[in-house]
Amino acid sequence: MVVASIDIQGGKVVQLKQGADLVLQRDNVQALACEFDKYGEIAVIDLDAAMGKGDNAALIRAVLPLGECRAGGGVRTVDDAARLVEWGAKKVIIGSTAFRAGGGFCVNHAFLEKVARRIGRERVVVAVDAREGEIVVDGWKTRTGLPLIETAHIVAPLAGELLFTSVENEGMMRGTDMDAVRLLKEAVKQEKDPATLLTVAGGVSAIEEIRAIAEAGADVQLGMALYTGKIALGEAFVESLNWKKCGGMIPVIIQEAKDGQVLMTGYADREAVRETFVRGNVCLHSRTRDALWMKGANSGQTLRLRRLRADCDRDALLAVAEASAGVCHTGAWSCFATEKGLRKESRRTPSASPYLNARAASLTPYVPGEQPRDKACIKLNTNENPYPPPPSVIEAARKAASETLRLYPDPACTELRGAVAARYGLQPENVFAGNGSDEVLAFAFAAFFESKTKSESPAHEEQPVLFPDVSYSFYPVYAALWDVSCETVPLRDDFTLDAAGYLRQNGGVIFPNPNAPTGLALGKTDVTRIIEYQHCIGKVVIVDEAYIDFAAPGLSAVDLVETYPNLLIVRTLSKSAALAGLRVGFALGNEALIDGLCRVRDSFNSYPVDRIAQAAALAAIGEAAYYDTLVRRIIQTRERVSAELAQSGWTVLPSSANFIFIKHKTLPGTTVFQRLRENGILVRHFDRPRIADYLRVTIGSDEETDRFLAIARAAKFP
Ligand SMILES: *Cc1c(COP(=O)(O)O)cnc(C)c1O
Repeated sequence: MVVASIDIQGGKVVQLKQGADLVLQRDNVQALACEFDKYGEIAVIDLDAAMGKGDNAALIRAVLPLGECRAGGGVRTVDDAARLVEWGAKKVIIGSTAFRAGGGFCVNHAFLEKVARRIGRERVVVAVDAREGEIVVDGWKTRTGLPLIETAHIVAPLAGELLFTSVENEGMMRGTDMDAVRLLKEAVKQEKDPATLLTVAGGVSAIEEIRAIAEAGADVQLGMALYTGKIALGEAFVESLNWKKCGGMIPVIIQEAKDGQVLMTGYADREAVRETFVRGNVCLHSRTRDALWMKGANSGQTLRLRRLRADCDRDALLAVAEASAGVCHTGAWSCFATEKGLRKESRRTPSASPYLNARAASLTPYVPGEQPRDKACIKLNTNENPYPPPPSVIEAARKAASETLRLYPDPACTELRGAVAARYGLQPENVFAGNGSDEVLAFAFAAFFESKTKSESPAHEEQPVLFPDVSYSFYPVYAALWDVSCETVPLRDDFTLDAAGYLRQNGGVIFPNPNAPTGLALGKTDVTRIIEYQHCIGKVVIVDEAYIDFAAPGLSAVDLVETYPNLLIVRTLSKSAALAGLRVGFALGNEALIDGLCRVRDSFNSYPVDRIAQAAALAAIGEAAYYDTLVRRIIQTRERVSAELAQSGWTVLPSSANFIFIKHKTLPGTTVFQRLRENGILVRHFDRPRIADYLRVTIGSDEETDRFLAIARAAKFP
C-alpha cells in the first residue's frame, strides 16, 4: 500500500526539508485528499500541533472524512486520540508522547495501553523517527538515546503499526535505509495476532525503492517525491503490488461505492491498473481478447473509480466504483448482488444523486405532457378540457379561499363523497376522494396489489398484475414504486383490448375504459367478463374511467359496483369536468375496498383534498347539465376532426374519449410531432413500440381544432 502524506502548517499543505525548511506549499487540502484517497490511505499531520504552535483542528476535521486517513501531530492525551477517531480518522499516529515518561525517555507503556484500550490497538500507529539509529522526538530536535531496533521490539506489541521515518533522509529524496527497514520488519513480525504493520516514510525517491520496500513486506509513505512529481502515486501503487505471485495478473473485486454490493470481478495487469488511475474508470485485462479493457468503453456505462486497495499480501485488489448501469452481460445489475442490492432497472440518469436509496434509484418516473409557458401555442397534449368550468365552481373555490383556510379540510371529504354517491346511486361508503385520480391509482396499487417483498415465501410464485401493453403509462410506474410485479397483455393488431388475454391467473387487473392513448372503448360485455373472472379468482380489477363521459352512454361499469366486491372504478374531474388544475379524483367501489384506500391514504397524508378543492368539486358535481353540454360539444368536434383527417388520408382510431389517436400515411410520428410543434401546436407523441408513428391529439375548442386541421392538411404533410 502507498500512503500519501498531507502535512498541514498554517492552514496550508506544506513539505518541509528535514522537518524544518519549507520547500513547497499548497492550499487545496481537500482536493488533494480526494485525489489521494484513490490510491491508498492518507497521513494527515498537523505540524503546528506537533510543534506546540497552535493547531489546524478545523481543517483537519474537514479533511478526515474525505478518505481513509491516519491523523497525527500533537497527540498527547488519550482524548486527543479519541477525538481524531471521532472526526473520522481510521488510525491515529502517536509521536513524541510514546517515548516520554517520568521526565525521561523510554517507551510510555501506560499511555500506549490506555490509547489502545480507548480506540483499539489496530488504530494506533507509533511514529519511530530515527537519526543514525537513534529515536528522536519533538519535531526531530530532541535525541532520546533510545536505540531504534530494540525500541521497536518493545513498542510493536503496543501498536497496530509502526511508521518509520529515516530523518537524515526525510525530504532529501536520497533513498531510505533498507537495512533498517528489514530489521524493523523482523521486530514487528513477532506480533502475529494481530500482526503489527510497518510503513516506511522519509526519503523514498525512486520506484525501485518502493518495489524493494514492498518486497520486504512494508508499506510506503510518500511526501516530497509525490509533490515534486518525482514519483506518481499510480506508479507507486502498481509497484507496491505482488505481481510475481500471480504471474503478472491480479484479480480485482469491483464493489459499488454506494451500497457495498459486489458488482463483478476481473483481472488486471500493470497496464490495467495504471490506466484505471489515468482514466478514472475501472480498467481490466480482457483474457478473451488479451487486451486492455475499459469497462463501458463502448456503451459509456463505465465504472467510475472511487478508490483502489490491495489486500494485506498485495495479490488481490478491491476497486470501489460507481456503476452507471448494470454490469452483468445479461443486463442485470450484477451477477453477485444480494437481493437488497438488486436493481430492476439499470437505467440511472447520469445526474442521479448518490444519496438515493435503491428503490428511488431504480424508478423510471412518468413524464407528464409539457405545460409550456408560451401562451400562444395551441395545447392539445394533455387532454385538458378546452372550455372553462361553470361559474358556480369558480365561485365556490373563491368562497372557500377565506379565513377558514387556517383549518385543516375534512379528511373524509364527507359532503363531496355524499354528492358523488348520490350522483351514481351509491352510498358515501362506496366513494373515495383523492388528489387527482393519479393519487387514487397510486393508493390502489399500494392497497390491492401484492408487493414482491411481501409474498409469503420465496418459492411462492408472484402473480403479475395485468394491464394492456399500450395503455396509461403511469401503471408500470406505480408497479415499480410499490414493487409490484406486472405483465402487459398485448392489444389486438387493431388496438382493441383483448378481454380473453386477461382470463388467466394474475395478481390483479387494471385498464382504462376507454383506453388511453388509443381512445378505444371496450364493450360492457367484455368488461363484465373480466370483472367476473377476477371475482372468481379472488383478485381486484380496476377500471380507470377517466374518459368515460366522452363514451357511449351505458359503458361505465359503475352499476356493477354493488354486485362485485372486487371492482374499483376510478374517475377524475380533470377531463370532462374541466378541472385538471383542481386535482380531484375518485374511486367507486365496495365499502371494504374504499376502506383499503383510506388505510393507505392515512399512512401517507390524511388531507389530500384541500378545502378549496372540496368546495369546487362539490359544486362541479351539481352541474351535470352544464357538463353534458360541454361534453356534447367536444364529441361533436371530435367526430368532425376525425372525419376530416380520415378524408385527408390519416389513420384515425374511432375515439370514445376527448382525444384522437392518429397516424400520418407516410411520415414517421416524430416528424409529424416536430412539424406541428414548429407551427405552435403541441400534441403528445409516445416513442414506444407499436405506437411510435401515432400521435395523441386532444380535442380542443373549435377554433383550435380548425388551426390544427389547417396545418395537418397543409402541403407540409404531403
Ligand atoms: C388523465 C388520466 C388520469 C389522471 O387524471 P388526474 O385525475 O388528473 O390525476 C388517470 N388515468 C388516465 C387513463 C388518464 O388519462
